[in-house]
Amino acid sequence: MEVVKVDFKGTKGIPPSGLCVGVHRAGAMHQKMVEKYGNGIAVWSLRPENDFIAFKSLEDEEGIRSTNDMDSIKDEKLIYGVRGAPPEIRRQAKEQGLELLADATCPFVIQQEEAELELLDQGCHLVILSSRTHHGIPRLMGIAKEKEREVFIVEKEEDVADIRLTRFEPVGVIVQTTFWMESYTGIMSRILERFANVRIRNTACIDSLQRLPKVEELARDVEAVVIFGWTEGMTNRMEEVARAFNDNVHRIEKVDDLERSWFTGMSRVGIVGANETTDDLVNEAVERIKSMAA
Ligand code: SF4
Repeated sequence: MEVVKVDFKGTKGIPPSGLCVGVHRAGAMHQKMVEKYGNGIAVWSLRPENDFIAFKSLEDEEGIRSTNDMDSIKDEKLIYGVRGAPPEIRRQAKEQGLELLADATCPFVIQQEEAELELLDQGCHLVILSSRTHHGIPRLMGIAKEKEREVFIVEKEEDVADIRLTRFEPVGVIVQTTFWMESYTGIMSRILERFANVRIRNTACIDSLQRLPKVEELARDVEAVVIFGWTEGMTNRMEEVARAFNDNVHRIEKVDDLERSWFTGMSRVGIVGANETTDDLVNEAVERIKSMAA
């Protein structure tokens, strides 16, 4: 059986580690802070359980931990994690007098927040093209709440009918960083049909733009697709894209999740890593699939 792996080496915007720019950069910042300050570091994170999976060396470090409970941070120095922090969390950190060592928020997340603020300042009501469960939603809602604005989340074309605004009210649209561009097009034409005053900021990140088309290519080319990832953003999008072109899509969070029965009778299987999955982990999974076929 042939195992086709999507190799992101040399792909614009994707570091050789296979991680996305944001995760790669945040991991390097965490590492640097540990080297510089030794221990007593807390990373405030929207997804603390995922923070160090890509960085095994940090997972084993005793001096750094990841948490989403700001009250639990007392004598530690603070870092904001790759997914950013809502305004109320940043305010609480200041009130607690915590020392902020670094803000590892992904530059694309910052860009998205800036776009949101710009649209809100222009008087727009906010529409976010995103899945409702995406970890970034509380952060974006928190920003809109500060400005006392309502937010409408649109996941699919039918949701556009539920936006409680009249035709001439100003609508500002931002896109979840890991949104799939194919669904974006359909939703946007509905929004433009319904509203007369629409401003759009395309805040999808370069990682999605590079990674998701490769998933489509792979899904069209193989008999089964394995998606290796654990984030609800990129991993869900990859699954959505792969399922649109292939009936045999499996998702794993670790190499041990692979099942021999998925590949019975197949000669060509594909695998792709999500934005927090290192190239080394994907290679390990490739070897396991090969050994299952032997
Ligand atoms: S997937 Fe995109 S937005 Fe999310 S951390 Fe990576 S580069 Fe940043």
